[in-house]
Amino acid sequence: MLCAECDLLIQNKIIEEGSYLKCPRCGHVLYKQKYNTIIKSLALSITALICFYPAVTEPIMSLSMGGKEQHQNIIEGALVLLKEEHYIVAVLTFMCSLLIPLFRLLLLFYVTLSLSVNYFSPHLFWTFRLYHYMEEWGMLDVYMLGVIVSVVKLSSMAEIQFGFGFWMYAMLLICSIMANNELNHHEVWDRLLAKKKAFQ
Ligand SMILES: [Zn+2]
Repeated sequence: MLCAECDLLIQNKIIEEGSYLKCPRCGHVLYKQKYNTIIKSLALSITALICFYPAVTEPIMSLSMGGKEQHQNIIEGALVLLKEEHYIVAVLTFMCSLLIPLFRLLLLFYVTLSLSVNYFSPHLFWTFRLYHYMEEWGMLDVYMLGVIVSVVKLSSMAEIQFGFGFWMYAMLLICSIMANNELNHHEVWDRLLAKKKAFQ
């Protein structure tokens, strides 16, 4: 691997839990081997998957203006965009805020569960590669930011309250980020390779 700070080429080593690998030239910490990363990531991905359903079906916010009150969840939001003929925006919103994050969570769940229960299949390699590949397309955080910006902008014109869906969506976002950060990707690749050799 390459040191991110000084570009020194270093041989990747499997290190013990609780220790970290440092660059011998500049001292930059290349990675920390945290404890039980795969189980933690599995638990977080399950929590995120549980939050997914209420995050999508419960209203994100309620808006009251001139005696009228309106609640809307994410799916209804995308449908409104479709009705107003913003087809590309509707499809992108639906894909990036719903489908891809869900698909990525399922991929992560599959990989971490397989490693936890000592199951191996050659599909796991492309599954984990696909998980990486889709990283740029999952935009839970961008959607969240969009909701917050619209609340700030609309707050002077209407009375706005965050719905249960908003808090579930925030929880989903936090758990997804933590599940990804908790995972040591080097360790996953190393363990997959070791399993492949053991099963051959
Ligand atoms: Zn270095």
